[in-house]
Amino acid sequence: MKVALTSLIILVAMSITGKSQVKIGFEVSFTEPQAHYAEVEMNISGLSNDFVDVKMPAWTPGSYLIREFAKNVEGFRASNAGKALRFEKVKKNTWRVYNGKAKSLKINYRVYAFEVSVRTAFIDESHAFLSSASIFMYPDGMLEMPSTIKIKPFTGWQKVSTGLEPVSGSAFTYTAPNFDILYDSPLEVGNQDIFEFTASGVKHEVAMYGGGNYDKERLKVDMAKLVEQGTAVYGENPNKHYTFIVHNFLKGGGGLEHLNSTVLGATRDDYTDEKKYKGFLELVAHEYYHLWNVKRLRPIALGPFDYENENYTTNLWVAEGFTAYYENKLMHRAGFHSQQETLDKLAEALSAVINTPGAKVQSAAEASYDAWIKYYRPDENRNNSSVSYYSKGEIIGLLLDLEIANASKGTKSLDDVMKAMYTEYYKKKQRGYTDAEFKKMAEQISGISLTSFWKKYITGTEPIEYQKYFGYAGLQAKDLNEGIKIPYHGLAVKKVEGSILVTAVSRGSAAWTGGLNVNDEIVNVDGVPVELSIDKMPVFTAKRVGDDLSVMVKRDGLLKNIVIKLKANPNVKLGVTVDPDASAGEKAVLSVWLRK
Ligand SMILES: [Zn+2]
Repeated sequence: MKVALTSLIILVAMSITGKSQVKIGFEVSFTEPQAHYAEVEMNISGLSNDFVDVKMPAWTPGSYLIREFAKNVEGFRASNAGKALRFEKVKKNTWRVYNGKAKSLKINYRVYAFEVSVRTAFIDESHAFLSSASIFMYPDGMLEMPSTIKIKPFTGWQKVSTGLEPVSGSAFTYTAPNFDILYDSPLEVGNQDIFEFTASGVKHEVAMYGGGNYDKERLKVDMAKLVEQGTAVYGENPNKHYTFIVHNFLKGGGGLEHLNSTVLGATRDDYTDEKKYKGFLELVAHEYYHLWNVKRLRPIALGPFDYENENYTTNLWVAEGFTAYYENKLMHRAGFHSQQETLDKLAEALSAVINTPGAKVQSAAEASYDAWIKYYRPDENRNNSSVSYYSKGEIIGLLLDLEIANASKGTKSLDDVMKAMYTEYYKKKQRGYTDAEFKKMAEQISGISLTSFWKKYITGTEPIEYQKYFGYAGLQAKDLNEGIKIPYHGLAVKKVEGSILVTAVSRGSAAWTGGLNVNDEIVNVDGVPVELSIDKMPVFTAKRVGDDLSVMVKRDGLLKNIVIKLKANPNVKLGVTVDPDASAGEKAVLSVWLRK
């Protein structure tokens, strides 16, 4: 009923503006892939105004940084029936085309694509990865319009992999019901190695570019297990088909989620190393889980998108952090990690957050909001001034999960909140959620007030009461560094052309208090020529907490001797184990929290 009503409103709106007549078609070809160019032709018909503004997005959803994709556009021209049309640039990403009385027009432009990442386009003689938001322009005010996309692969390229719906009977031609879906559907064009598997009733295609020592049969089985565990959390898999585009490089990583596809980076020879193979599966689990969390169940600011400006949300700790947390749950449930391995991974993630000085400065909500200027634009002070919404969000997921399991006496978990939110906001209300709505749902499921939880861990920077939370599940958490007083200088360094340069100074450390700077070149410590691992130098290992360390640095070409007073290493190293004397209630919490 709600769906029918919504489409009626859209129909009325379209007939007023005359947009329903508009048809948009793209054609992408490659005449010089070796020089990293795509040629894009865009045909728009059914126009009623005498000019149209065409725009290039400035960012791509999932990666919260203004990337200015218009900077890669060149050779823009517009025509009608072979006659050039006048146009002018009216904004950095906007071309205004004067079509006069003509109802249709053709636009041509080239896009330079030479940035290797899962969120930027890349073209060379071997393939084209088309990250759609950096390739396709949209006519202003027409983001809801459908389009067709025809790919003309370069000579010798034989395959296209994408989540877009193919047009039957037309080779390499696809349709997108609107620009949100087009921009959410990257295309891999070339000779990728394709294999398929079916899981949760959905056909999955894996498109491997770049070769590698992967075992297809093993991947089919293992990836299917993760698909099934993800689907089990939400009770349904909303896709008809799903595409994994995997870019294998000498050294690769990272991923970007899309509606019914994902792009993963991988290291081509890592598949036979068990630990690294599991790392790849964790990436699969992460990006796949996103098809529910953020691609459908989403913070209210993340869709419909403004492709020209920042889209601010305080909830990336849910969208990204909980996805990072669910990597652990899915890997455990699929049988890739034992219970103790899962506890070890969570203890490591928790230690990392506790050991980040910036976690005492920036809250998870602030980290989310400022993703555009902090997380995606890190500087040398990042660890002191900010916390990652991935890392802190993962820990919030862990704490909230244990809080719910404890409050419900081992009958409910974070799974119930995620599923209820998906049903309520994605399926019923068909909109994103606010922070208050997420909190309210977690309170309903747990039956307790979470106001203090939110104040401490989401909008606040309180120390994490990990012993209390692990204790709910009959687990003991200990700092394995407790009582050990290791001298700590607080410097991070790197070797550049034989010189040891300071890359970061940890807040509150001896180096921080003593005034060592990032970019200082360390010449010697206590008169001994410095080595990359200062901590392993005999002159340092002989030190005790409270001792002085004399550091000779070259700063701006001048020598300077700085004496720092060594403090104890403040970093924790948590270990989590099952308490053999756990009560029945605690065991119940553990079994709902870490169920198989
Ligand atoms: Zn993610």
